[in-house]
Amino acid sequence: MSIPVRTSVNITVRSAAKINLHLGVGAPRDDGFHPLTTVYQAVGLCDDLTATLPGEQDAPWDLRLRVADYIDPGAVPVDDDNIVARAATLLAAHHGVPVRGHIDVDKAIPVAGGLAGGSADAAAALVALDRLWDARTSDDDLLTLAAELGSDVPFALIGGTALGTGRGELVTPLPDGGTWWWVLVPSRDGLATPDVYRHFDKLFPDAPAVPPPADELLDAVASGDPVRLARLLRNDLQEPALDLRPDLGVLLERGESEGALRGIISGSGPTCAFLCESSDHARDLAGALMRHGRTVVLVANGAVAGAHLVENLHG
Ligand code: ATP
Repeated sequence: MSIPVRTSVNITVRSAAKINLHLGVGAPRDDGFHPLTTVYQAVGLCDDLTATLPGEQDAPWDLRLRVADYIDPGAVPVDDDNIVARAATLLAAHHGVPVRGHIDVDKAIPVAGGLAGGSADAAAALVALDRLWDARTSDDDLLTLAAELGSDVPFALIGGTALGTGRGELVTPLPDGGTWWWVLVPSRDGLATPDVYRHFDKLFPDAPAVPPPADELLDAVASGDPVRLARLLRNDLQEPALDLRPDLGVLLERGESEGALRGIISGSGPTCAFLCESSDHARDLAGALMRHGRTVVLVANGAVAGAHLVENLHG
């Protein structure tokens, strides 16, 4: 009998894109952040992050990126500015250990698309490196570190459908009675989130201090009825995003005229998200949009899990 010898340990974590079913935005706080009442949903468009311990001869830290063919690799930094590197540094400092790991990120979530792809990678890095280093970080500490990395990162850890308050970092899971089908249409050129918020401030100088609530929409989510949900979708960043990118308004109208229950801008855009009645409906709509010349049209369902371990993809 031979005993298998493990020469290296690989940890692969999958983490999902989000859309905002409700994004109520208030006037900027003293710290510059906008208060939000948001309903996040994690959808089945995912990045995979694999972390491996380096050998003795290897560099202690290495980050490699492989991107889907619709993503410009030049849009994502691979140095210390990558949010994965920032997550590693933060987790290591929390435990007082050196940063170690070879990281491979397989990106399918469009960059600067309003889908929180960077946040998904940050959440994946926290979960993977916590395992790789056997650091045993408590859930509360992971959520605190996540919030330091970005407002959407705590939700990327939790997934499902959830209410976000504060600047989005305070997350409460919600009852969700549906399987929701989305058609997502990314744009080649991203929209920088700070630019969209700046434009929001210009368009709405009298925004309320308390962001608009999502109460009715929460009932629709619990009911599982997509027709009801479609009526209640709301994104306060849609107007500024469309003002900056009028072409997106044309796309939203096209999707709705082709039968989407509703089209909205995802987060700060520019990705357009179309809610459909079923998987068949979503596939039909995707086909129609492709016939109208859109080359990248993705179908995803929600809600899916937050950052979680998956079977090893890298041997
Ligand atoms: P959000 O909706 O949370 O604002 P987004 O989907 O609009 O996010 P991201 O894809 O998270 O935007 O990217 C925002 C910026 O972060 C990019 O312009 C990119 O340069 C930088 N960035 C750093 N690390 C990553 C990463 N791992 N993946 C994607 N972008 C990253």
